[in-house]
Amino acid sequence: MIIFKYAADVIHQVKKGRQTETATGFIPTMGALHQGHTSLLQKSKQVCGLTVGSIFINPTQFTNADDFKKYPVTLENDIYALEKNGCDILFLPEVKEMYPNGTIPEKHFDLGYLETILEGKFRPGHFQGVCQVVCRLLEIISPTHLFMGQKDYQQCLVIKRLLELENSEIVLVICETLREANGLAMSSRNLRLSDQQKEQASHIYKMLLHVKQNITSGSLLLLKKEAKEYLTINGFKPDYVEIATANNLKPVDKWDGKTELVVLAAAYFGEVRLIDNLILNQ
Ligand code: AMP
Repeated sequence: MIIFKYAADVIHQVKKGRQTETATGFIPTMGALHQGHTSLLQKSKQVCGLTVGSIFINPTQFTNADDFKKYPVTLENDIYALEKNGCDILFLPEVKEMYPNGTIPEKHFDLGYLETILEGKFRPGHFQGVCQVVCRLLEIISPTHLFMGQKDYQQCLVIKRLLELENSEIVLVICETLREANGLAMSSRNLRLSDQQKEQASHIYKMLLHVKQNITSGSLLLLKKEAKEYLTINGFKPDYVEIATANNLKPVDKWDGKTELVVLAAAYFGEVRLIDNLILNQ
């Protein structure tokens, strides 16, 4: 694996790799890598001849200064994990390399309704920051395939929209969520939890499963209310629990029994904010 700090060098290396390999897979990350991240890498290896990863803790997508400050950094382990899983190129830029003209956005992305709900509502500006960094990364790496995790369900829909806005032909590959044995979705932020807290935090997944197992056509209001209460009883401070149409995230209060749905939740466990989701009728 070759590591680059500068955009010009990574652009040059990807171009060189493209001479022999037609498909280039790209996995953007913020580091503190776990098996969820490496599963994206493995997926890319199956589909693409050249796999590029990036590690960049993007300041413009954080809406809470403390969350940014406390974001875990495990660079040595990350490099080892990427190398071990066959990553060809790692792009490891600093802020000034990503934002040579400063972090103030030069462009607004028209994400419409998608950025007014759920994560967009609770973290205003977050998805503009995500689009700002992904747009810049795609410009530098120019991959044929982009691998992202279903764990960040709304982010996947936002990136799908971004690719449409940019008339991009990049194929977005959405990969399943990897979980701990107790069901807790793997997340870099889990590093901030003790083992005991991780056990307790798995209630978020148990709640999602409960919704999946108990959903019936008709009103969903009681099920949503119970799900939120379940989180509160188990020590979470929920931002939201929502059941929505899987393809556009419109909230559904009354289900026809057919439309594909997703249940999504975000909740604080102590100081750590966790998100998770489950497709309900796949
Ligand atoms: P992050 O480093 O949190 O920005 O995540 C980088 C990529 O890894 C995103 O596309 C995430 O959706 C994905 N990801 C994070 N956690 C998981 C997980 N548990 N399973 C699969 N993909 C994940």
